[in-house]
Amino acid sequence: MLLNNKVALVTGASRGIGRAIALELAREGATVCVNFQKNSAKAESVLSELKKVSTNPHCLVPFDTSSYEAVEKEITQLVQATKTLDILVNNAGITKDNLLLRMKESEWDEVMNTNLKGVFNCSKVAAKFMLKQRRGRMVNIASLSGEMGNPGQTNYSASKAGVIGFTKSLAKELGSRSITVNAVSPGFIQTDMTQSLNPELQAEICKNIPLGSFGTCEDIAHLVVFLASDQAKYMTGQVLGVNGGLYM
Ligand code: NAP
Repeated sequence: MLLNNKVALVTGASRGIGRAIALELAREGATVCVNFQKNSAKAESVLSELKKVSTNPHCLVPFDTSSYEAVEKEITQLVQATKTLDILVNNAGITKDNLLLRMKESEWDEVMNTNLKGVFNCSKVAAKFMLKQRRGRMVNIASLSGEMGNPGQTNYSASKAGVIGFTKSLAKELGSRSITVNAVSPGFIQTDMTQSLNPELQAEICKNIPLGSFGTCEDIAHLVVFLASDQAKYMTGQVLGVNGGLYM
């Protein structure tokens, strides 16, 4: 197994891509800490699934990634209990789509605070521990929208483009301490986030995807496992697209 004796924190792991990442990390031997914000019933069910995968002390760590105060408190307590933090997956993200002229200031702020400030908050606190350990893996979940743009998503695209710039800068800061920082950039993946798109629009999008369909959460999770493992020890500051060829 690729991740025996490693401790991983996955933000936004109560469903969707985060849930799949949590399960794949556990299948490779990691102990997984499942972060979520609101949906405790779904997070509990992910924890039950993790317990079926291995007897490692997997746990739940509810906090709002957009609050620096909460992030600092919860990650610090977590590391006191686990004694180590080897892998951070910054996955928590939201959309509040609207055309720019209709977009409320609150829709801009909420998306930036969760998708970009949340990554700053968690990375800053985790980096403190990883620097002391002189090892670590950070994987940030960006988005195709941050690379290509998408009408109705100025807030979301800006936040994800920000995650890409953040990833490259932090990779340069932390490389000398054997901490890698990479981004995975999903295209259209079957989750709650994309289920709201009407079926006609989904069919239209698929026509432009060379591989012909939306991706699965596992398509993202397998790449995250690789980036979190020693097999990717010479990769940092990279943005890897998983988009069925929609953007190349
Ligand atoms: P999702 O199904 O909507 O799940 C979002 C997760 O994030 C949930 O676990 C949610 O927790 C958590 N979350 C939201 N705000 C949070 C906060 N402030 N603090 C902590 N947790 C928070 O989303 P998804 O589709 O799996 O997307 C996961 C990531 O991939 C996001 O960063 C998204 O932008 C990115 N992405 C997705 C797609 C796609 O096609 N689905 C494409 C490109 C990129 P609760 O349930 O507790 O609220």
